Amino acid sequence: MSADQTVFLNGEFLPIDQARVPVLDRGFIFGDGIYEVVPAYGGRLFRWPQHLARLRRSLGKIRIDNPLDDAGWTRLVEELIRRHPWRDQFIYLQVTRGVARRDHAFPKDATPTVFAMASELQPVPTAQREHGIAAITLPDERWLHCDIKSISLLGNVLARQAAVDAQAVECVMFRDGFLTEGSSSNVWMVRHGTLFGPPRDHLILEGIRVGLMDELCASSGVPMQTRPILREEVLAADELLVSSATKEIVPVTRLDGQPVGKGVPGPVYQRLFEAYQAAKRAA
Ligand code: PMP
Repeated sequence: MSADQTVFLNGEFLPIDQARVPVLDRGFIFGDGIYEVVPAYGGRLFRWPQHLARLRRSLGKIRIDNPLDDAGWTRLVEELIRRHPWRDQFIYLQVTRGVARRDHAFPKDATPTVFAMASELQPVPTAQREHGIAAITLPDERWLHCDIKSISLLGNVLARQAAVDAQAVECVMFRDGFLTEGSSSNVWMVRHGTLFGPPRDHLILEGIRVGLMDELCASSGVPMQTRPILREEVLAADELLVSSATKEIVPVTRLDGQPVGKGVPGPVYQRLFEAYQAAKRAA
């Protein structure tokens, strides 16, 4: 948190340390809400229509009426970016079902709480790009609606902490022996020059970088396949990558203490990373 951060809360822009939410907000009580994270490079939103579409889908899936139309969201987010000095930023958006007497069932007349905040987007540390990161494998113990970008993130929080406790940066999760994703990223496997990603179903969040990866593979001539991926295949991968709004694409070079492939960032990573930077420049 930076003292000069301005946030948006329910129609108002105010300093972050003055923003307050009532204790009966269902986001606080039940984790009953959804969120988005959108990067902006040089003041320009990156893949904003895709983020807006996912925001609408998440709201629809948990049956919260969209509190703003697309133009309203765009105005809000552009104003937040304008109010902050950083060249590259990421915007966090959150909508909860609002404030109501504590009862699991939906309240009849609550107004959704709308919160938005801008933060400086720090580049991925050079050491991570040059040497890759360490990850651990974990069973995926989350619920069965991982496609919703829900603020109920306890399973993801525990998974990330398990990685940190093991001196790793991220985890690679498996459900019933098949790859799902990381605690806050999508996971990709490379074998024999092809990039493989797991099915885009309810067991993972379809990251905005998933659609981008399709385009980057096409533009850089990397074959790509979406299909169930066995744990054994991941353990024998030539390369592993993780992707997210804030990390872009990062190579995983150690998994459970063992080198992935040659133990250094591989050629497919290098090509996709360069294609990613070109996509940012072109946006
Ligand atoms: N999966 C999970 C569980 C995540 O939290 C994230 C990042 N929010 C992603 C995937 C990647 O999504 P995106 O590319 O939109 O950042």
